[in-house]
Amino acid sequence: MRGKQKMALKGIDIFKLLPKEHANCKACGFPACMPFAMKVAAGGAEITKCPHISADVLDKLAESTAPPMKSLTVKIGDQEGKLGGETVLFRHEKTFVSKTLYAFSICAGYSDAEVEAAISASAAVDYARIGERMYAEFVNVYADEDDAKFVELAKKASALNRGVILTTSDPALAAKAVAEIKDAKPVLNGANASNYEEFSKLASDNGLLLGVGGETLDELYDTVEKLEKLGNKNLILNVGTKDIRSAFEFTVQIRRAALMNNDRTFGYPTIVDVAALAWDNEPLQAALAALFTVKYGSIVILRTMDYAKALPLYGLRQNLFTDPQKPMRQEVGIYPLNKADENAPVFITVDFALTYFVVSGELERSGMPCNLCICDAGGYSVLTAWAAGKFGASSIAKFVTEQVEPKIKNRKLVLPGKVAVLKGELQDKLPDWEVIVGPNEAVSLVNFVKSVA
Ligand code: SF4
Repeated sequence: MRGKQKMALKGIDIFKLLPKEHANCKACGFPACMPFAMKVAAGGAEITKCPHISADVLDKLAESTAPPMKSLTVKIGDQEGKLGGETVLFRHEKTFVSKTLYAFSICAGYSDAEVEAAISASAAVDYARIGERMYAEFVNVYADEDDAKFVELAKKASALNRGVILTTSDPALAAKAVAEIKDAKPVLNGANASNYEEFSKLASDNGLLLGVGGETLDELYDTVEKLEKLGNKNLILNVGTKDIRSAFEFTVQIRRAALMNNDRTFGYPTIVDVAALAWDNEPLQAALAALFTVKYGSIVILRTMDYAKALPLYGLRQNLFTDPQKPMRQEVGIYPLNKADENAPVFITVDFALTYFVVSGELERSGMPCNLCICDAGGYSVLTAWAAGKFGASSIAKFVTEQVEPKIKNRKLVLPGKVAVLKGELQDKLPDWEVIVGPNEAVSLVNFVKSVA
């Protein structure tokens, strides 16, 4: 692989091609041409931001200045998902952009009853966490033989309103399934050094994303180059199922080659089949799914998705694929819980999404009707917002007077226990209200609400 890399242009090369008649005009949003060129070379700005660049030069630069990793679209039932487009190796450097998507599996070796059981068990995992739907976005269909069963399973998978992955190294078999479910735009997962031409034609003819693998990184690299020469750049790199160690090495080396060396032959998202790496070991699959969520799996295939796997896995994914520069915020407002009306008491807290998620969950669990009011606190947690001066008696009183009082008749107001210190001042500012200090931890809310009721 080393020595074959298609290197991107350096900043100085791009600078030489910029239009000199408009030098340093700032229309691109940068103070001069040179910093703009440096940023483009680093993948941090689009060359098209310079409005004066000619079409000829644009064509010349298009390949070299494209982002180091392709951003691809994939069909997920009646929706679309994004894969790739990453620009950093570590989330804290900037942000990851396209979250890992998960698949559960059905295979031609299953009996009909096993297929139904696999689908109903995995499809049962479907819930919302901090505004995000958590479910297996794909159904992966395995087969190497038994044409009729494979096609039947592909049709069954396509009826589940999820993305479909067809995992087979037999292009003729894949073609039979594609003929039946082409509108579902399945991902073809099975191209390799010996069958890539047939798979490439099938994928290109039907506008499908093509998964390509190799025994070694060099072999994978060569096959990707050949596919690109055939005009196919709608690829996802399969890191292999030989063993866990090599799959891990593949993901890391592929991502490093793409982002550190600007090697665009490896600038594609990856697919990791942890079901095949540890078929009979579900706990190990869960651990591997977590590993490959952190280390660069764009799609991770599991044998099954169940709550034991989903709860930690989706929590990890949500933490990893949020922008660390932007707090996760819940919209400011009044949230009636348990069919609360204007006569239900008011619980107030901050607009940090995780706080909302935890507090609303506990209040719902209590079964008592109440109005959860979310204040603008800069998206910080309770103590951080208080320390930053964004969740004080004045701001709470203003919010209650302007937004809560016109809508809610009940005059009990529960403060988070962690800001009990605000009670006196808040009571002075809201004389018509009974300010009550709630518990320190949300987990104590269920017992606490009984006393408020
Ligand atoms: S818009 Fe183009 S010409 Fe003007 S400063 Fe930016 S790069 Fe230079």
